[in-house]
Amino acid sequence: MSDQNPTLFGKILRGEIPSDRVYEDEHCIAFRDIHPAAPTHLLVIPRKYIPTLNAIQEDDRFLIGHLVLVAGRIAAQSGIAEQGYRLVVNCNPHGGQTVYHLHLHVLGGRAMLWPPG
Ligand code: 5GP
Repeated sequence: MSDQNPTLFGKILRGEIPSDRVYEDEHCIAFRDIHPAAPTHLLVIPRKYIPTLNAIQEDDRFLIGHLVLVAGRIAAQSGIAEQGYRLVVNCNPHGGQTVYHLHLHVLGGRAMLWPPG
């Protein structure tokens, strides 16, 4: 699925760019963000190439639910679940998206601010 993916995360999926993986299965991988915005900052990405939230299809229901489930699991494994954490999906320029392959940010290890910037 990742062979048609021209993005940075496509390269990470194919192993062309190294990443610090914390989880992987047949549907997704998770790795540490290279510029962490919190003491724990993980990214969960589907193996399927989906550029943005806007591109999600009905068929992706299971996959999107799986990504959220995995985010919760790796938050627990990282020890941030009990105190709490934030899941973020940025979409397109106003959402602050910079890499156009769908990803969930898992942010924790400090109190988050609201509203976000
Ligand atoms: P976005 O801004 O699209 O929501 O999130 C993209 C994220 O990818 C950013 O938090 C950024 O720090 C992260 N990132 C950019 N390049 C790399 C990289 O080469 N490796 C890793 N692990 N993360 C990256």
